[in-house]
Amino acid sequence: MNTTRRLCLVLGDQLSFDLASLQVLDKESDTVLLVEVMEEASHVPHHPQKITLIFSAMRHFAEALQQRGIRVQYVTLDDPENTGSVPSELHRWQAHLQPDELHMTECGDWRLEHSLRDCGLAIQWHSDSRFLCTRADFSNWAQGKKQLRMEFFYREMRRRSGLLLNGDGSPVGGAWNFDAENRKTLPKGVRPPSPARFSPDAITQDVLALVAKNFSGHYGALDTFDYPVTHAEAQALWDYFLDWGLAAFGDYQDAMASDEPFLFHARISAALNIGLLDLRQLCSDVESAYWSGSIALNAAEGFIRQLIGWREYVRGVYWLKMPDYAQGNAFGNTRSLPEFYWTGETQMNCMRQAISQSLKHAYAHHIQRLMVTGNFALLAGIAPSEICEWYLAIYMDAFDWVELPNTLGMVMHADGGYLGSKPYCASGQYIKRMSDYCRGCAYKVSESTTDDACPFNSLYWHFLMRHGDRLRGNQRMSMIYKNLDRMTESKQQALWQRGQSLLNQLDNGESL
Ligand code: FAD
Ligand code: SF4
Repeated sequence: MNTTRRLCLVLGDQLSFDLASLQVLDKESDTVLLVEVMEEASHVPHHPQKITLIFSAMRHFAEALQQRGIRVQYVTLDDPENTGSVPSELHRWQAHLQPDELHMTECGDWRLEHSLRDCGLAIQWHSDSRFLCTRADFSNWAQGKKQLRMEFFYREMRRRSGLLLNGDGSPVGGAWNFDAENRKTLPKGVRPPSPARFSPDAITQDVLALVAKNFSGHYGALDTFDYPVTHAEAQALWDYFLDWGLAAFGDYQDAMASDEPFLFHARISAALNIGLLDLRQLCSDVESAYWSGSIALNAAEGFIRQLIGWREYVRGVYWLKMPDYAQGNAFGNTRSLPEFYWTGETQMNCMRQAISQSLKHAYAHHIQRLMVTGNFALLAGIAPSEICEWYLAIYMDAFDWVELPNTLGMVMHADGGYLGSKPYCASGQYIKRMSDYCRGCAYKVSESTTDDACPFNSLYWHFLMRHGDRLRGNQRMSMIYKNLDRMTESKQQALWQRGQSLLNQLDNGESL
């Protein structure tokens, strides 16, 4: 007898009650399928905390659906019948339940979506309405543009959403973007709030044991897991940020500080990306905080720009350009990722801080990812595929649609400048200005060519010298090249030699 009319497959990053494919469900006759599969958990060595988050949140979501009267078929990782991949599980349950229809919301990951589209089953696909901009909308916006710019896309999203607009459609405060006000360093005596922590319940404890047993070879600590795994906990994390973080978010958005992994950042990206928080609600809460007078415009605009600007923009680029986008390597980099990315064992304090906290919490904030670990990979000429795999593996919030454009495009400029107009390359001076890292470092940030000189300094100039052919023509780089050209020949040579010797060390498998 056919007892399931529709079977709706929900993935681990689709845990939203208002997911498009769940809206067609009939409680009487339909079934939701959730599967924990080895292929998704191990196609890169995902941080054990990330696997824990997803499996635990899936189990809590399944329970919540059942409490709403929805029939759920749940497959755990250690179920002996588990076939190990999403398409093969869908085949198995299709054969077993014989539904009339299969439903899914489009995936976040090109690889998985294409394996499902090619798996020989007639799936009815739903557009992912959790984003403001559909894939088709973005494609229409991008059509005919040689180069895309986030800023113009963002203005479009502001107009479309109505966020922070005056009655006549102009931006509140007279400008669309207040980023220039968001670059303050952390003054002495200003301490960020202690992070909100969530104790693992019985379900999470089971998952922690499962992950410890099955993924012991993956990098990263498990015993520090304190992340929200339900909608209610994610809401509590968000409320905590609204009360204690948001007001200072704008000012110190780009600041970094030793042993302060979270500063005034929200830490919500993982919860948002897997569906425990709702984008529109977050933006509306931030806008209300601004209208109520409790936060300044630079904080509100800065936060909303990240969500409806950058986040939607990178997703649009990903779906527009995949699968070719993943092959981008505009600088022709071939160097392997240094081992210290996986261990944190380096004398460079900024790198040690950023990597160690990533291993401990599966988290680093944007500037650490962009201007420390990312900047180093760019300057050192690391192969884009290797550094992309690292970011995808190590961060709790990393999913291909958001990690890949941020890493390959924004950090590595490997798409030739499609996503961003210039590489975010910087010497140690930037890190010194925005953090206290250099004070605790074995290297001297004031030196460039000596044996104890900050590696970022010579590698910065080495990068500019070796890619002059490609970058000199870029208007936004002209000042930097003028500075290089003003240097004496011998200074340039010394920088080249120091940079080359650091790269040789990396090629010999030595740490820095
Ligand atoms: P906050 O600093 O408090 O910012 C608020 C929110 O804005 C974030 O939660 C996030 O949802 C959004 N946001 C901010 N910047 C971006 C951005 N550039 N792209 C997309 N969303 C953004 N973010 C991910 O969610 N997943 C990733 O895999 C990811 N990989 C990254 C890789 C690199 C190399 C870089 C430079 C950035 C990456 N980001 C990624 C963006 C950003 O670093 C994280 O979203 C942010 O650090 C998450 O911490 P938070 O929630 O405390 O963010
Ligand atoms: Fe990083 Fe250089 Fe500063 Fe050391 S001196 S913390 S390597 S920027």
